[in-house]
Amino acid sequence: MTTLASLDPAARDALRAETRKAYEAFKARGLKLDMTRGKPAPEQLDLSSAMMSLPGNGDHFAESGEDARNYGGLQGLPEARALFAPLVQAPPAQIVIGDNSSLALMHDCVAWALLKGVPGSVKPWSQEQEPVFLCPVPGYDRHFAICEALGIRMLPVPMTGQGPDMDVVEKLAADPAVKGMWCVPKYANPSGEIYSDETVRRLAAMETGSPDFRLFWDNAYAVHHLTATRHPLADILSLCEKAGHPDRAFIFASTSKVTLAGAGLAVFASSPENVRWFLGRAFFRTIGPDKLNQLRHVRFLKDMAGIESHMEKQRTLIAPKFEAVLDALEARLGGTGAATWTKPEGGYFITVDTVDGAAQRVVALAKDAGIALTPAGATSPYGRDPHDRTLRLAPTFPSLSDVKAAAEGIALCILLAGLETQTAEAA
Ligand code: PMP
Repeated sequence: MTTLASLDPAARDALRAETRKAYEAFKARGLKLDMTRGKPAPEQLDLSSAMMSLPGNGDHFAESGEDARNYGGLQGLPEARALFAPLVQAPPAQIVIGDNSSLALMHDCVAWALLKGVPGSVKPWSQEQEPVFLCPVPGYDRHFAICEALGIRMLPVPMTGQGPDMDVVEKLAADPAVKGMWCVPKYANPSGEIYSDETVRRLAAMETGSPDFRLFWDNAYAVHHLTATRHPLADILSLCEKAGHPDRAFIFASTSKVTLAGAGLAVFASSPENVRWFLGRAFFRTIGPDKLNQLRHVRFLKDMAGIESHMEKQRTLIAPKFEAVLDALEARLGGTGAATWTKPEGGYFITVDTVDGAAQRVVALAKDAGIALTPAGATSPYGRDPHDRTLRLAPTFPSLSDVKAAAEGIALCILLAGLETQTAEAA
């Protein structure tokens, strides 16, 4: 296929008419498809159905003899912390197990930092002039929503394919107003990229203007491989410690996309000082987490090998859906220049960049054809994509046949919007 840009006006008009016809035919199928959110499909949740009867009647004692049915155990059962130690690359003593949502732990940390400060703070962040977070873009809309909800100004940082552009990060982090940075270091939401060793090293070592700067290291997709390669990630806690910034990283993870999205376990890991701080604040919030769910996870997943083999089953279910989307994009858009897209090796998303100024139009065209897409702009702070070009596709939840149909429709919408944008520019 020749690129759209090289078509003469007559050829472009002909292709636009042909694409419009194909789009109308797709629309006439009256489908109702949803590619908006990265949710596990029911079959993925079924992989954990054995958990529903765990830990089992009478099996409610932890290894220490503690009765998991009762109050207490703020930090989480030692066996649950040991289970997640390799996943978050921290010793069990530096891990806290929360309830089902890591996003809630991130929200707590930001709220507590604003109200009380963190180890190393001179005063609570809310009493600083205007706290700022660095936000790699494209990024996770819920991270940005926490900042908006709690009054933290966001500064975008471009991604490079190896993580955020570290020249930009180092320059911006020198400003004392910059208190934190969102990082999804592995199979990032939504670009799928993995922070290179050099990126992680520079994040750990960089000089920051603020003494209490924190990396919000959201390793949500640590074990969510889409290929046979289990890509490693550099060890942020050790690197921070080596660089003389032992308290820099707050690590988060969860089993939302390992076991049950609504009933998993969330994990916080950090330096001994930060863990003391976290537990000191959490003390006022709860008398203890759901330890039966911790026991349930320990019984079901057993150890890191158990987690990895469970994730292989997840991969078998979802990798074909990612392939279906990539095939459809390639079939309709390959060589046209109407879009570029990621080929993730893990995580939950495919990112598509349309030609500038076409993303909102694609979402509108898709909606008219019965396909719900994440709003254009969602991957940027404040929901504003200055180029109006980035789309996030989430193929896990619908059935494979629905994913195939949706991807075919989305590719048509992208081509049509690209042709319309070019025609408008030429007029
Ligand atoms: N972080 C990232 C990067 C995510 O993509 C998601 C889920 N979409 C979450 C956190 C939410 O995690 P949890 O279910 O543990 O709150």
